[in-house]
Amino acid sequence: MTHVGAVRTVNEDSYFTSDRLCLVADGMGGHEAGEVASGLATELLGEAVAAREELALLDLEPLISSVNRSIRAYGADHEATGMGTTVVGVAVIANGGTYSAVVFNVGDSRCYRLVEGRIEQLTTDHSHVQELVDAGEISMTEARSHPLRNVVTRALGVDAEVRADYFVLDDVSCRLLLCSDGLSGDVGLDVIEATLVDHTAPSVAAQRLIDAALDGAARDNITAVVVDLEFAMAHPDDDTVPNQQVRSIAAEITAPRSRAAADVVRRAFVDLDGSEPDRAGKAVST
Ligand code: MG
Repeated sequence: MTHVGAVRTVNEDSYFTSDRLCLVADGMGGHEAGEVASGLATELLGEAVAAREELALLDLEPLISSVNRSIRAYGADHEATGMGTTVVGVAVIANGGTYSAVVFNVGDSRCYRLVEGRIEQLTTDHSHVQELVDAGEISMTEARSHPLRNVVTRALGVDAEVRADYFVLDDVSCRLLLCSDGLSGDVGLDVIEATLVDHTAPSVAAQRLIDAALDGAARDNITAVVVDLEFAMAHPDDDTVPNQQVRSIAAEITAPRSRAAADVVRRAFVDLDGSEPDRAGKAVST
């Protein structure tokens, strides 16, 4: 489910769902650039996965790089500077005869997992405020109201190279929420958790989450995709060779988190035009 929110006139979020891939993307750049970027990300990734009979974990990295290049090329062709998009997704991957699910993210769109009625955040934002939290300079609570809370440090379509983080899921079954920051930034974790627990149908849970965001200021676009992973996956205690391999591959291709603080701050301020940062001011550029 997606909603433009209560303030903005254009919805720059996009989503995609199929039985092997679900995505949420939050575009940035304004002037038709944001919705094009998030639309390209979801369409190109969706088509690429649909065209394959099976997806391996190692297929994801080149796919994401290819989509990054396509969005960059579109931005250059249309002189859309600052065009970019986050992406968060979950994909079913073939794993030597067994199947796993892999969550991946670039930027500050998030994946939460519901385990036995308790919610946990699986992804770590690639954002300026997350860097400040990691450095111990601000708390997670302060991050929610920080003036630069919308500034992302990684996005598709911005830099020549981009790397996602990957998380291998080996629960037998679980519920996931993929969402843009219009939801995670404005709706409390307790409300998100209760909503995911209370509504069995994924589409109803997603609609209730949108409703919860609309009960507040809803200054940003809001997108929620609720995914129930129900196929038989390897048990967490199952340390068969394929599962060990897929976890070590995920660790290997996940980008290192550290980055020079000065570089982050420089990038963070580039596209803010000296004006007060707002929901639309989240683009990063080199
Ligand atoms: Mg947003």
